Amino acid sequence: MNMKTVKICLIQMIAAAVLSLGLSITALAAQVHGNVDEIHEDSISGWAWDAQAPDVPLTVQITITDAQGSLIHQETAEASLQRDDVAASGYGSGACGFSLPVDWFGLPDGAYTVQVTAAGQTIGGTRQYYKGQPALRSLGVFKTTGYCPCDSCSGGWGRLTSTGAVATAGHTIAVDPNVIPYGTKVMINGVVYTAEDRGGGVKGNHIDIFYNTHGETRAQGTQYAEVFVLDA
Ligand SMILES: [Zn+2]
Repeated sequence: MNMKTVKICLIQMIAAAVLSLGLSITALAAQVHGNVDEIHEDSISGWAWDAQAPDVPLTVQITITDAQGSLIHQETAEASLQRDDVAASGYGSGACGFSLPVDWFGLPDGAYTVQVTAAGQTIGGTRQYYKGQPALRSLGVFKTTGYCPCDSCSGGWGRLTSTGAVATAGHTIAVDPNVIPYGTKVMINGVVYTAEDRGGGVKGNHIDIFYNTHGETRAQGTQYAEVFVLDA
């Protein structure tokens, strides 16, 4: 460990101490961290952890709706499975994993929306799951760019979209609604997105993909990709 590393460690320790002090003063609402890691054909797994109550397992609720928005399945479970990888990332002891069985087999083929919440907060964004072989219809090649909640990308709107939905990475795209109507699910490079935003510069065969950070937005740059509509 060289002097520079020691210095950075010290700064991090001070920052952590200041942060924990701040949290203990404002320890009121739950501060949930977590993710939906995988949607398997028989289960949904992830983790959820409350920084304000690190030793109390959270109850997670999974909600599955179909393409028409009808509730298909709702279930709760305790997030208390040991996750060493989560502990290694600094989220408490790691006893905060969950795995919920889901009987996809009993459901008809089609697109489903999966939402996992803990303490009233959505974990890992809203996810799409497609059961069976999706009916894909090519819209042709589109220009794809990226945007994020920063002022320069969002014009001060942050995560607020033109449809009122809260923008989530891996889910939200901005489109020209004359080309792709709001609510349409499209697949780009294997990821299924929902058209729920628009942008001043997004016209014609152009899709703006939402990212959490400006770094990811820059990495996206300008690309061209074939876009498919999912006919659920
Ligand atoms: Zn940005």
